[in-house]
Amino acid sequence: MRKNLLQTNSFRAKYQNLINEINLFEDNLKTLSDSELRAKNIKLRQQYQETQNLNPLIAESFALTREASRRTLGLRHFDVQLIGGLVLNDQKIAEMKTGEGKTLVATLPACLNALTNKGVHIVTVNDYLAGRDQTTMGQIYRFLGFDTGLIQNDMTSVERKKNYNADITYVTNYELTFDYLRDNMALNLSDVVLRPFNYCIIDEVDSILIDEAQTPLIISDNMETSVDKYIIASEITNYLEVNIHYKVDEKNKNVILTDQGSKQIEQILSIQDLYDVRDPWIPYVINAIKANALFLNNVHYIVQNDRIVIVDEFTGRIMPDRRWGDGLHQAIEAKEKLPIRQTTETAASITYQNFFLLYPKLSGMTGTGKTAEIEFEKIYNLSVEEIPTARPALRQDLPDLIYKDQFSKWSAIAQTCNQLSSAGQPILIGTTTVEKSEMLAQLLNEYNLSYQLLNAKPENVRRESEIVAQAGKKGAITIATNMAGRGTDIILGGNIRFIVQKELYDILTIARNYVLSKKLNILQSPLKSSFNSSSQTFLSVLFSLLSDQRFLQLSDIDILRILRETDKVSIPTTSYLCSIKFLIDELSRHYKKYQEQENKIVKNLGGLYIIGTERNDSRRVDNQLRGRCARQGDPGTSRFFLSLDDNLLRLFGGSKIQDFMQTQMLDDSPLESNFLTRSLDSAQERVEERAYQQRKNLFDYDDILNKQRRIIYFERRSILNSASNQRNILAYGEQIITDILFELKKEKISNQEILSLFENLFGTDLSKFYTQTSKSLLTEFNLAELKTILFNEFWLTYQSKINELEVYGDNICENLERSIILINIDKIWREHLQRMTLLREAVGWRGYGQRNPLYEYKQEAFYLFEDRQKTLRHVVIYDLLRASIL
Ligand code: ADP
Repeated sequence: MRKNLLQTNSFRAKYQNLINEINLFEDNLKTLSDSELRAKNIKLRQQYQETQNLNPLIAESFALTREASRRTLGLRHFDVQLIGGLVLNDQKIAEMKTGEGKTLVATLPACLNALTNKGVHIVTVNDYLAGRDQTTMGQIYRFLGFDTGLIQNDMTSVERKKNYNADITYVTNYELTFDYLRDNMALNLSDVVLRPFNYCIIDEVDSILIDEAQTPLIISDNMETSVDKYIIASEITNYLEVNIHYKVDEKNKNVILTDQGSKQIEQILSIQDLYDVRDPWIPYVINAIKANALFLNNVHYIVQNDRIVIVDEFTGRIMPDRRWGDGLHQAIEAKEKLPIRQTTETAASITYQNFFLLYPKLSGMTGTGKTAEIEFEKIYNLSVEEIPTARPALRQDLPDLIYKDQFSKWSAIAQTCNQLSSAGQPILIGTTTVEKSEMLAQLLNEYNLSYQLLNAKPENVRRESEIVAQAGKKGAITIATNMAGRGTDIILGGNIRFIVQKELYDILTIARNYVLSKKLNILQSPLKSSFNSSSQTFLSVLFSLLSDQRFLQLSDIDILRILRETDKVSIPTTSYLCSIKFLIDELSRHYKKYQEQENKIVKNLGGLYIIGTERNDSRRVDNQLRGRCARQGDPGTSRFFLSLDDNLLRLFGGSKIQDFMQTQMLDDSPLESNFLTRSLDSAQERVEERAYQQRKNLFDYDDILNKQRRIIYFERRSILNSASNQRNILAYGEQIITDILFELKKEKISNQEILSLFENLFGTDLSKFYTQTSKSLLTEFNLAELKTILFNEFWLTYQSKINELEVYGDNICENLERSIILINIDKIWREHLQRMTLLREAVGWRGYGQRNPLYEYKQEAFYLFEDRQKTLRHVVIYDLLRASIL
């Protein structure tokens, strides 16, 4: 408590002057007309263009944004939200509790930084949130004269480019990163969709930069796959026993084959050497064992439409676009007897870690960042600032209850649900796997309790936001994976927006179908009962809508989309949208009173009760769950129910816990022991530390590839941008000749070799300079003369190629040269990526000696990269001098 107060004070002190200034602008801005406000914003834009300095503009720009928000959305930024905005503009992470209005906070630095005309990206975790935030907050931006963009999964590159050109663009981390990779594979400048990066605000920054940092994003091509090997390896696992033929290292998610295991497999396969590089079996076998021992259906993945779909361990969400690499995904497909999909070869890849570091100005928001502060600082140079809540926080975190085993734990959870819901207090239970959520559902059935179940299964995901939004209704029990319905507000007493949308959707679709099927009197329809309580104006607006041809032509999906969108805008653009908006407002008014009463009742019951069923691998994820209750000064309670055999304690609890478990005479009642709580905390910290080290390690290795990637992408982009690449071609030729002569001087190659090398590469005949083949070229010419001769020859060949090609049209040569260079850069980069992956594995083994694997990796990576440059020059010249147009 004391700490919070101190922090609040230090915050206020630091930003107080600016906040005073912003507040001073307020009275004056309130008196101005809408267009005068817009004019002020245009003036700020001009001021920036003159000074190139945003700092003097902060206060006025923030004040304008606040006023624009008040006029468009009816929301006036609280002072703590201004602090959040200042922190974001200072390139830091703002930690703001759930429900404190981060979406609105982002508008402040977004508008300020949009004054530069260089673009602002606001990154969210899914398409739904990006769309929702852009539509709502877009009203503020438009009011001030900024245009906003939105990137969605199904957009074409033309649409993407247009949206990235907007002042402020909402986009998911996934789309943004792939657009970057694709841009760097483009063969024409017109296909490039992104502008140079400027300023970025990442929402849920810990999810993106920490939880998802581990897996690189990959664009890949298919490769030939030995399907049989996967199937055979999977069958072999039936003949292997754990601890005899192999050992499982659960902590590191690894399996190790014993000698006996290797022999057994060699015998089954009738092969001599499992590790033979010419016919490698070992990766298939290891993956097959891993697939069996470490990857469980409905925990780590689900099977959907004959495919393995990964379930994110942290959030419980499915990740349909990801695949496990290095053959593991195929091994799991073989285990589940599904069709085996092709192995892929990486064409381009980057981790979020390195991607976001490309922004000159980066910031982020989250409800839970403080526990990962060190990581944010060390890797991203981002410090975390805790922003005080607008109203005092009333959440009560009760001490953990620890049970002796799973059975007692889950029974206690079910009993608690029974007790709490008999009074009507809403409960949200966070589970980590599909299996556990279904098991709890079964238990609740035994108590005859009704509940909503939300897990990674696709049939549930579609209704995710809706279910979570209603989790605060009186008597509601919601079982959900920890992070389900991210970004959805849980309002005590229920969320009327969703109720209204659903009811109006039913009315509109049923009524429209009724009219279309030419049934005459809609008042006789199944909707009869809904109309009884409706006002006369409601009915007349509805009838006018039903005679509007444009409305009648809409599909059900269109209606749903329109309802969602119209709900968020204050002034709809067309007449039938106006009618729909009117109906929404009418229904909302009707429900509002009822909702207010319900809200009071639920508050009196103590608000939302959060039940955690397992401590997660990181405190952040636990805090995210707790943070779903007690938003904006509401009451709320959280409690974790744990068991001694939960994964965290079992794997990381240490020997003391094992002893404790064995020596205690335990019954079904919970243990409340300081010793256990401390052990749990330290187990969790150990897991966090380990995960951090793994990410740090990945980062250190990736850093090397990252530097190379930057060089390649820079080189590639300058080639893409330039009208002509003749200078590059000549430079390539010159460098090749210099290299050849260097070899000749060192007597590494003979005369004959130089002749054929030159002839092969440049396609010219040198014999005219050289009659006595027995003599060395060097005896007839000195090095400088030779260089001139060779270069002239190259130049002549190149020139005649240009003459030959130019006949076909203007710019043919330039375009061809550009394509040849770009295609070869990509091809060689791709090969380089595969080599780097192999190198990474190889140095892993070398680490067993005295050598430092990272150092070794750096050295070799450098040589490989140098080789790459040389190969590029050769293939470009070779391809170009042999190019023809048919
Ligand atoms: P967070 O992302 O921090 O959990 P949201 O951005 O989803 O929070 O906002 C939570 C709710 O608070 C939304 O309904 C929003 O309209 C409301 N809200 C945000 N800022 C304000 C404000 N200044 N005044 C009133 N309501 C606000």
